[in-house]
Amino acid sequence: MFKLIHPIPAFTDNYIWAVSSKADTRACVVDPGSAAPVIEYLQAHKLTLSDIFITHHHPDHTGGLDQLIAMYKPRVFGPKQSNIRGITHFVGEGSQIELFDHSFTILEVPGHTLDHIAYYYAGSKDQAPVLFCGDTLFAAGCGRLFEGTPEQMHASLNKLKLLPEQTEVYCTHEYTLANLRFALAADPANQRLLERLQNEQGKRKAATPTLPSSIRLELDTNPFLRCADPSLVQSAVAQLHRAPVNEVEVFAALRSWKDRF
Ligand SMILES: [Zn+2]
Repeated sequence: MFKLIHPIPAFTDNYIWAVSSKADTRACVVDPGSAAPVIEYLQAHKLTLSDIFITHHHPDHTGGLDQLIAMYKPRVFGPKQSNIRGITHFVGEGSQIELFDHSFTILEVPGHTLDHIAYYYAGSKDQAPVLFCGDTLFAAGCGRLFEGTPEQMHASLNKLKLLPEQTEVYCTHEYTLANLRFALAADPANQRLLERLQNEQGKRKAATPTLPSSIRLELDTNPFLRCADPSLVQSAVAQLHRAPVNEVEVFAALRSWKDRF
């Protein structure tokens, strides 16, 4: 198992996840948009940076690369569809990479951007499965479609839906409460959503991250994973003023409603 998977806050609402090795002082960070908070964390815990995982090209996920590479010379994994400066290992669908004797599989999940990938560890008897999914699947939400189509994002989310339900979901932003407010508008009769809102509000009041989430929790409460559910279909009808022809249209209607919410 890993020693720790720890959120390093950055900017206003980003988390840079730091994964530390149980066996030694190595650490990996995911999407270091800024170098300073990472360096501060590594120094405070006497860790050295051996690896970086990049999920996509946006600057709030890559802005710290130059400085961290200059200081630590880590391996840098990132999407082969991108030309992000500093990547040493380009990976794509099905690529296997080793981190502290744990094997991660790469999933291509285009939609938020075209180059977006996720890092999945299948778990062991003492470590739950782990997913680093950047800006694709959020707690109770999903990323905006800056580059991809609704079809692509819907397919990407469907890929993540198939992961084991106990998978811990580490996304990159603390958007959970705003996402839950939208989720309640779209899926108002969902009792699990009301419970989740209370629970997550309690965490934020205590200044605790709402992450990680889990695939189970997202299946129960995330409107973008529930496009086949009659109450979400009904919400899509209200947006489209007609019956959606398929699940992708339900997804697209919800996503564009959320953009204006
Ligand atoms: Zn992004």
